[in-house]
Amino acid sequence: MTLPADFLFYSDFNCPFCFALSERLLVMGEAGNVHWRGIQHMPAAASHDASLADQTQLINEVSVVRKRAPEINIVTPGFRPNTAPANRLLMNLEAQDPKAQSHLRTLVYRAYWQEGRDISDPDVLAELCEAAGLTFPGLELTEAGETLLARWQQEWEGGRFQRRLPAMISRAQDKPLLGFPTFDLLAGFFAGSALPIAPESLAACELKPRQVVLLVGQGIGERCNTTELEAAYEIVTVADPEAADRWMKGQSCLPDMLVLDALSLGGDAFAYCTLLRQDARHRQTSIILLLQGADSEQELAAFDAGATDVMFDLTHPKVCQARLDLQLRATRSTALLASLARLDHLTELPNRREYDRKLEEEWLRASRTGTSLSVILIDIDHFKAYNDHYGHARGDDCLRQVAKAMARTLRRPADLLARYGGEEFVVLLPETLPRGGRKVAQALAEAVRELQLPHAHASCADHVTVSIGVATGVPKRQGAPRELTEQADAALYRAKKDGRDRIREA
Ligand code: GH3
Ligand code: MG
Ligand code: MG
Repeated sequence: MTLPADFLFYSDFNCPFCFALSERLLVMGEAGNVHWRGIQHMPAAASHDASLADQTQLINEVSVVRKRAPEINIVTPGFRPNTAPANRLLMNLEAQDPKAQSHLRTLVYRAYWQEGRDISDPDVLAELCEAAGLTFPGLELTEAGETLLARWQQEWEGGRFQRRLPAMISRAQDKPLLGFPTFDLLAGFFAGSALPIAPESLAACELKPRQVVLLVGQGIGERCNTTELEAAYEIVTVADPEAADRWMKGQSCLPDMLVLDALSLGGDAFAYCTLLRQDARHRQTSIILLLQGADSEQELAAFDAGATDVMFDLTHPKVCQARLDLQLRATRSTALLASLARLDHLTELPNRREYDRKLEEEWLRASRTGTSLSVILIDIDHFKAYNDHYGHARGDDCLRQVAKAMARTLRRPADLLARYGGEEFVVLLPETLPRGGRKVAQALAEAVRELQLPHAHASCADHVTVSIGVATGVPKRQGAPRELTEQADAALYRAKKDGRDRIREA
């Protein structure tokens, strides 16, 4: 495929769309035909200082990209780095060696999006520079570089592009392209084929994924002015609760919001609301009841039925959108808080609470199906001495690296690695026999050994090692989930007693 025109791509390292697009262009062998311009979507972004709202946005963006490009490996980084240093570096190298610079750009993207590294750290950038075979020129901008960077940033922030969106423009057609919802469309565009929809409406890089709003009721679409709302949301309209159930059954994700029209549905709207609330899957969903007009009795009935809010007049699309936005934002924050409550902040692994929850769930499932369950407890050897010798910051870093290395060894989606507490980790393996548990334990120990993190004060090796206890069993209904963990703990104790850096089975 040859490109019919020159393309300018304004890209930022902390934008998942830019990452996905650059990866895809590389795969298509087209990266060389696109002129890259480094800019900052969030000039104020600072490392390790993302607010809850930033974090939500990042997670949302990543999930949209994952949906659109499932073949690209993209992690959700725990922070938004300041991308200015990386931009300055590329700018300084631009004159030296454009080809090697392009290779470095790829390495920087991958360091952040695939390895979760902090690309605002000068040491990381120097190391990447070396990996690209380049001499690190430092991060002080040259005068020419400064002018160039300012111009590009200005172009991108200027009238033609919306701030915060990555942008691609065709030089020949002078057309801004705000990304594409599918890579087929992108490839089609490069190949010069006509687009099925106007590029302006392809706000694929809109940072918010379009949330799904399900409207239930006869004629509700007209009353809510949905045509105007379709740019902001994915609006689905169905006539009644039965149709709503049918539609939801066919979806992999539940809608973010339901609007039930009491005007056309009458009492059924209230009854359906009550029914939805009894379903655990809808506990967090926003449910709005659309009433005919202000009527306190009806309002109270709506709240009694579990409605999140009521609305009356939706004829003004701006008002309607503002109210829907408000509700959806609240839902999203709640969901984010819930997901953060399941995570260990330091290692970004599931935490002990999540492990306990999952263990109980898998325990019950296994006792029903008569399958076996394995639990592996992992404890870093002489970690107190490690902290004492290298300091707590290096200790934290060691925990993160060990967590990441172990996470890479797990293969099945149902396997769970969690931080059990301190320097202890736990792995839960559903439907796993003793032989499988042993194999995973060996792989975990090997992954930590391969890191070769120096440890000056361990009795068993000159690098960081772990001791592991494994327990496998077929749960019995009368038993308790914690029994398996206790058995693994007893095995771990033996591994420690026998000299550490080894695996023991219950
Ligand atoms: P053993 O080989 O018997 O397991 O010895 P150990 O020193 O690893 O075990 P001990 O329980 O005596 O010490 C655990 C240490 O882990 C103590 C604590 O300072 C350290 N630790 C626990 N949580 C963290 C953390 O979040 N960050 C850091 N840096 N250290 C931690
Ligand atoms: Mg311990
Ligand atoms: Mg220990």
